[in-house]
Amino acid sequence: MLDSLRQPIETGEAVVARANAHVRFPARFQLVAAMNPCRCGYLTDPGQACGRAPKCAVDYQSRISGPLFDRIDVHVEVAGVSAADLSLPPPAEGSAQVAARVAKARDIQRARYDGKGIRTNAEAEGELLEAVAGPDDVGRRLLTDAAETMRLTARGYHRVLRVARTIADLAAAERVLRPHIAEALSYRRISQANG
Ligand SMILES: [Zn+2]
Repeated sequence: MLDSLRQPIETGEAVVARANAHVRFPARFQLVAAMNPCRCGYLTDPGQACGRAPKCAVDYQSRISGPLFDRIDVHVEVAGVSAADLSLPPPAEGSAQVAARVAKARDIQRARYDGKGIRTNAEAEGELLEAVAGPDDVGRRLLTDAAETMRLTARGYHRVLRVARTIADLAAAERVLRPHIAEALSYRRISQANG
């Protein structure tokens, strides 16, 4: 059951409960997952339009529960690769350069949380999260408005703050600003079922 991932995603622990035993295992991991947009896979394909849209997508995507989607911070839609794409030049920024930016952002976080018992933005909570990721006034307003229009859960709200802090770190920005909040919000999934 995919939903059994909910607890370890949240707590970093897997708890196995039996009649007379309760065992905790460390389970801190990064979840990376991919799925088709709908059962036939052609929902967003201009060449081969899905014949049963939008129901095909709603049915298919509803196999993942709302609470599980809520725990996934970064949703990115990617178009299919066509034969013509294969002959394009490589991207301007290669993997090694991206890895260097990520390493720098991790260094920033290591220094930020030194002595606080955690290592990354993902683990920051409560007052500490507010202190390190509290955005500027316009960023705060954007987040508050979005929380209402996108119907963010409290969990979703805090997850946006953590992602925004990481986006700011990747840009070597000291403070979380409105563009960082906007980008973090753009990665949140808007439920098809709500539309
Ligand atoms: Zn389809």
